[in-house]
Amino acid sequence: MYAPDVPIIRRDGHRWMESFLVILDRRGCPKACPYCTAEITDWPKGDDRLERLPPMLDELHEAGTRFEWLTISGNGEPSLYPVGVLRQLRESLDAHPELFVDRRFQSSGELFFRPDAFEIFHDYVMELTRVHVDPDEDMRILRYRRDHTKTETYAGAQIGLNHVLLRSTFGTLLDDLERYRDEIGGRLQSLTLKILNVDTRADERTRTGRVQSEQSRWIQEHALLGEDADRVIERVSTRFAVKREYDPVLDRVVWDLGNEVPLILVTKRERYGRLHVVFHEGRLIDYALREIPINDLR
Ligand code: SF4
Repeated sequence: MYAPDVPIIRRDGHRWMESFLVILDRRGCPKACPYCTAEITDWPKGDDRLERLPPMLDELHEAGTRFEWLTISGNGEPSLYPVGVLRQLRESLDAHPELFVDRRFQSSGELFFRPDAFEIFHDYVMELTRVHVDPDEDMRILRYRRDHTKTETYAGAQIGLNHVLLRSTFGTLLDDLERYRDEIGGRLQSLTLKILNVDTRADERTRTGRVQSEQSRWIQEHALLGEDADRVIERVSTRFAVKREYDPVLDRVVWDLGNEVPLILVTKRERYGRLHVVFHEGRLIDYALREIPINDLR
């Protein structure tokens, strides 16, 4: 077993994992988030080896593995890839629709300025991350120049929104969540409250808890951390009805934001991403960059 803390979930004769992520190599990003998760994780850079994806999906099919989510991510902005590569990726994934329940494309927002790339994934949920409900303030903190919320492509997209929990906005959190819900309306598929990780991999290896990067220092200074999860749960529960009490397997609480939209908090009490499988540079790995043998996913 590649990691003994990975829970085994079986349903309908299948082994279920939470997420299958395709993490493409870094091709830049128009944002400069002070907590940049791509910088902090420092994934190896090299050849994507996308030709290895189809046989791996075949093997996952044979193993009977299923995933709640497919997520395309970029270790940066995935829509900066050539359209031909994105199309090839889509075709490989379409060959195995049975593996995934839902599909997401994670973007900095740049995707909405690239209609060709958007078109290829137009029926995916577009996953965006914000720190502030006000677009100008979000642009100031995350240091980007073009407001994607004013594009036509954005107006036609299904949105999965991550809201980063900051100390400075904790006081207005409940009103902010309602504002997201009301502004995005029926296109909002989910709203996830995001607790940032401080140097996940470094701490995983060393267990020293020492902060090793400027991104981690920013997080410690400005963001709510795992230790604040109980405070967040208490505050959110004063306005929104709990749909699913804390689930230790998925490590999450789910509320009803209204309009059937789930409001989700992953508390980070458990090792984050332990139910995620990452395809990166032709290999299946976890967030600690450990290789995952397909046999361990049966
Ligand atoms: S959008 Fe993602 S890759 Fe780009 S700066 Fe922000 S965290 Fe880093």
